[in-house]
Amino acid sequence: MGREAGAPAVAEKIVLKSVEYEEKLPIARARKKEWLKGKCCCKCGSTKDLMIEYPDPRLSFAVWVWAKPARRNRHLSRAKVWCEEHYRERIRERKMNGLVVTHGMAQMYRRGCRCAECKKAICKYQMDRVAKLRS
Ligand SMILES: [Zn+2]
Ligand SMILES: [Zn+2]
Repeated sequence: MGREAGAPAVAEKIVLKSVEYEEKLPIARARKKEWLKGKCCCKCGSTKDLMIEYPDPRLSFAVWVWAKPARRNRHLSRAKVWCEEHYRERIRERKMNGLVVTHGMAQMYRRGCRCAECKKAICKYQMDRVAKLRS
């Protein structure tokens, strides 16, 4: 298993922040809002604070910003919608199984992301490693 010691320690609040990454762009935010209209949490049916679980989280940005409508719809047809609470639960589960890489994880930095959360994560990862080597 290629999991890193630092990964499980990543605070779950980062997961929620990562969702907001593409929302910084008004066009992405508007498309997302439009798509979420009439949708609800697949577990409890709530329509509040909906989160999207993408079939491929690495595309979550591209889907809203660059993808052509047909492509977007195809991708989103495999996406799942959760309320905030159940999304957290879901991500926590998947993270424990090593299935999810989000912003704020060293893996994400290695995949090329340079956002503040990912920089912080790689920094922490490296510091942890140094500390381990010294002890
Ligand atoms: Zn729910
Ligand atoms: Zn990032």
